[in-house]
This record gives sequence, C-alpha cells and structure tokens, in this order.
Amino acid sequence: MARIPAEKHTPLVLSVEGVDKSFDGFKAIDDLNFYLSDGELRTVIGPNGAGKSTFMDLVTARTKPDNGKILFHRDDGEDIDLTRVREHHVSQLGIGRKFQNPTVYKSHTVYDNLKLSLSGKRGLLHALFYRESPSDRDKIFSVMETIRLAKHADVIAGALSHGQKQWLEIGMLLAQDPKIMLVDEPAAGMSDEETERTGELLLSLEGKHSLIVIEHDMEFVRQIARRVTVLHQGHVLKEGSFDFVKSDPRVIEVYLGRQARKH
Ligand code: ADP
Ligand code: MG
Repeated sequence: MARIPAEKHTPLVLSVEGVDKSFDGFKAIDDLNFYLSDGELRTVIGPNGAGKSTFMDLVTARTKPDNGKILFHRDDGEDIDLTRVREHHVSQLGIGRKFQNPTVYKSHTVYDNLKLSLSGKRGLLHALFYRESPSDRDKIFSVMETIRLAKHADVIAGALSHGQKQWLEIGMLLAQDPKIMLVDEPAAGMSDEETERTGELLLSLEGKHSLIVIEHDMEFVRQIARRVTVLHQGHVLKEGSFDFVKSDPRVIEVYLGRQARKH
C-alpha cells in the first residue's frame, strides 16, 4: 500500500491528515496533520482545551472525525483506516491507550494483573481459567523487569503506590505488545522521583513501540523530549525539538507564557 514517500526516513506507523472534528459547532480539531514514525517517542503538549484528548479519542476510534484521514500503517504493508474501525477493535489491531487514572485490578497481584492482560485478547472467560505457558511466564517477568516491579510480583495491586500503579498499567499495555501506545499524562500526581523513573521507562520503550505521550509537566517533557508537537486550537502550532518549540514566540504566548506569568 502507498506510503508517504519517507525515502531514507523510518517508515510511518500513523498518519493523520486534514482531520476536523466539531462538537456542537465548536471546532475542537481543526485541519490536524500529524505523522508518527515507526518506533518514535513523540510528546504532545498544549494548553487546556487544545484538543489533545480529542486527538487520542480520534486515533483510538472512540470519536469519528468529520473530515480527513487517520491511517495505521501496519508492518505487513496494509493500511488500516482507523475512521472505519470500532473502538473495541482498536486494541486488537495493536493500538493501546493508557488513560490518566490507573484501572488495575486492585485485589489481584501484580503478576495476575499482567497475566489477565496477556490473556485479555482471548476474552474474559478465557482469562479466568487461563494457565500461562512458559513463554507467557517469561513475557510477564520481562514486563515486570521493564516496569521495575519484579520484586513486587506477589503484591496486591491495591497496595502499590500511585506511581507503581501507573507503571503496572503501562505494563498491562506492554503485555499485549502494542505497536502504538498512547499515554495520557503519565506523570500526573507522581513524586519527583517517580516522575523521573516514568521518564526512564518511556525512553526505554522507544524503538520497540511507537509512543504518543501527552504531558503538561514541562520538566518531564524536557526529560523525555525527542520530537515535540505543540497543539493549539486543534491544530499543530509547532513541531520539533524541545528547545526549538520552547523558544517559539507563539508557543510561549499560548502555552509557556501562561506559566511564566504566574512566577
Ligand atoms: P485537551 O485534552 O487538550 O485539554 P480536549 O480534547 O479535551 O482538550 O478538548 C478540546 C475542546 O473540545 C474543548 O474546548 C472541549 O470542551 C471540547 N470537547 C471535547 N470533547 C467534547 C465533547 N464530547 N462534547 C463537546 N465538547 C467537547
Ligand atoms: Mg485532555
């Protein structure tokens, strides 16, 4: 299938082109163009109401656009039109989303949460009776290493710290081996140390998955920044390195300026 000619660049995994989305006449997304490369870690920032969550809703087929294209470019060369897919089907396609509030099974252990997530693709009933294979166990242990919860395998999820719960939920996404991961404000409510560890975790996933991370905390954005997209009024205002976007007068005005004026 046709790809945007990327020549020597990494192939694209996601293209969003000319997308509009209005709610009761209000344009939440306005001619949005966004391209994500395979294995890229992209940070999306922007003031409240910029359209960040709506953007994620569009990519995960929770919301349908009024116009425009949203294509998932699969490894096998097939392009999936995400505007024609049902929301519950998106995770099976390999697009995983982590919402702001962790939704772990609080009365189950870390290990069992990951086991449930691993079997989730095969349905809930299956998950209840599911005996993991040796390769499943290896997968669960490898995910626990990645999210730094290997020593907490037998801990009930409800007893974890807020940060650890967030990591567990990232782990539950990882157990399903998503091609694209969408992560909404992963550092919200975390201590400084947890925030830094979260940044390290996301950086360690770069190259293995393609990630879109929405974030407000600018220190955190600085830590994980590769290519940064600034959204404003549902449109890309600026895109590039952290220093590049941060020094743009329009970005300062609409986003950073508000923070700067507070101090
Ligand atoms: P962000 O996540 O960047 O803060 P959102 O995507 O949540 O922004 O919202 C963008 C704009 O669209 C806001 O003005 C919001 O009020 C509006 N909006 C989002 N979802 C809906 C909806 N379901 N119905 C009506 N308005 C909505
Ligand atoms: Mg939001």
